[in-house]
Amino acid sequence: PLAARAQNLNKTYGSGDTQVRALDGVSADFARGEFTAIMGPSGSGKSTLMHCLAGLDSATSGSVMIGDTELTTLSDKQMTQLRRDRIGFVFQAFNLVPTLTALENITLPLDIAGRKADPSWLDNVLTRLGLKDRLDHRPSELSGGQQQRVACARALAGQPEIIFGDEPTGNLDSRSSGEVLAILRAAVGEFGQTVVIVTHDPRAASYADRVVFLADGHIVDELRDPTAETVL
Ligand code: ADP
Ligand code: ADP
Repeated sequence: PLAARAQNLNKTYGSGDTQVRALDGVSADFARGEFTAIMGPSGSGKSTLMHCLAGLDSATSGSVMIGDTELTTLSDKQMTQLRRDRIGFVFQAFNLVPTLTALENITLPLDIAGRKADPSWLDNVLTRLGLKDRLDHRPSELSGGQQQRVACARALAGQPEIIFGDEPTGNLDSRSSGEVLAILRAAVGEFGQTVVIVTHDPRAASYADRVVFLADGHIVDELRDPTAETVL
């Protein structure tokens, strides 16, 4: 079964002389329980692809499915609901609320949605991410790596169908990057999640099941069971 599918996605920004074709006929399947890293040069369309897959931006043409749901059929309100209820996000800049504790940050999206985390699921996530003795800390009292682990826990808390990451290790040192990638790997292996990240980090390859390479808005290559060496 597929967690997500892009079919013949095109995305242009602007018009006339300043028009940029960010995606040019991209098709890709994302199987459930798989960790995909999207790589490629700056400007190749990685962020645009992720934003279209995650319903943060709409494609100019083509189709995106999350599970059995075709995103173009959704109203803005339904799209917001789908992102909230079925997708988890991890960003480069962590995006934690500075005035809230780690635990309050982790449950914030669920609180807003009027949902509660499954207690045993949340307990497993917090244990696995090594956050149980940090739950009362505010983001300023946590290291960058710890903050990104909080963001990963926030993404996982609602048991989403799929987690999208935009350069999740982009602001982290090498050790913290490894930790966060290991957590995303564990989310797939131990919790059965589906993960799709955009990254420049060659280390991500050894944690991912496959790497999809973009260049000039096209998928130019795809590697299964990649290693850091094979993507350099
Ligand atoms: P990547 O994530 O691989 O760096 P992007 O998806 O950010 O690539 O960008 C792909 C192309 O689309 C680039 O040429 C970029 O400048 C352009 N682009 C991205 N977002 C916008 C935007 N909002 N308006 C205009 N051009 C954009
Ligand atoms: P990334 O590092 O992920 O490729 P960028 O720094 O290229 O992202 O872009 C950051 C934000 O600016 C994105 O939301 C993207 O859509 C937007 N953007 C990128 N290129 C342009 C552009 N040429 N014009 C307007 N917005 C852009």
